[in-house]
Amino acid sequence: MFIPKRIIFEKDSLKYEMAQEILNKFKDNANIEIINLNSNKYKEHIPGNDLFSQYREGKRTLVVGTKKSLKFQACKPSAHYQLPLVSGCMGQCEYCYLNTQLGDKPFVRVHVNIDDILDKTEKYINERLPDITMFEGSATSDPLPLEPYTHSLQKTIEFFGNSEKGRFRFVTKYNDVDSLLNVEHNGHTEIRFSINTSFIINQYEHITASRDKRIEASMKVAETGYLTGFLIAPVFIYPNWKEEYHDLLLELKRKLPNDLMFPITFEVISHRYTTVAKNRILEIFPETKLPMSDEERKFKFGQFGYGKYVYPKESMEDIKEFFRKDIEQLFNNKEIKYII
Ligand code: SF4
Repeated sequence: MFIPKRIIFEKDSLKYEMAQEILNKFKDNANIEIINLNSNKYKEHIPGNDLFSQYREGKRTLVVGTKKSLKFQACKPSAHYQLPLVSGCMGQCEYCYLNTQLGDKPFVRVHVNIDDILDKTEKYINERLPDITMFEGSATSDPLPLEPYTHSLQKTIEFFGNSEKGRFRFVTKYNDVDSLLNVEHNGHTEIRFSINTSFIINQYEHITASRDKRIEASMKVAETGYLTGFLIAPVFIYPNWKEEYHDLLLELKRKLPNDLMFPITFEVISHRYTTVAKNRILEIFPETKLPMSDEERKFKFGQFGYGKYVYPKESMEDIKEFFRKDIEQLFNNKEIKYII
């Protein structure tokens, strides 16, 4: 669960029930600074003179506000639209794409006007009838660690449970799933867990749930009938990588119930980086051990018009062969969506 160091309530946000609940939860905690803004200039209240400290202070700041523009962004290829419940994330993963997306103050922001957001969601679904419309809840965030006091996901999953043609998905590196287990989801929400070996999590994914906590949470949601998937990403090649990724897959196999009604999905993404991301990472994590030596990688132009440094061809083939074989051998009811 995300326990912020400071909470900034934007003007008028306390009219909403969710904001009141957040205030009640934290107002007596002497370690948490509560700031009520009369303007929307929240950035002035987040300290830090350079990117290094701004990043760390921002990551411990929760801004409570409303989503004013209710125009949802497209979210290809994983969904039709982003669903803007939360932006930012408490995690400090060294390779995270949000490092380059969220500027110099990567605070967490929750939108308390959830009813307006879901009303708008309904309109987007109706526009595409009779087709199904998919919404992604984690395009710019990991919403799960706020769930114990926002209940945003719970409301959203309930909404989609009652929607004939709307579907919802999100991905997480956390384990705060307990309040979602009794929600009437009707199989309309897919929860994916981003997992990795303990070595990679300990080395690069700071302030996230451990490998075993994520696995435990994934088993709970799978048992309660949610569509469940695993995003194994980013995959790194390092000494013993095959043994450790095999151990991870074996642990999933051992823990997964045998009688699931749906296939477990796997998405596997090898580590890659852009020059912009590398420069940003080196500012925020000057001591990083992330393997980002351009000479050891292949430069590849991507579909979004910029280039990335990916593993060379032989290493990519090794990654693909290893995961395809291992997943095929270990799991019966599964779907490998892609290995890239
Ligand atoms: Fe980024 Fe996900 Fe890590 Fe959060 S948990 S910092 S969104 S990679």
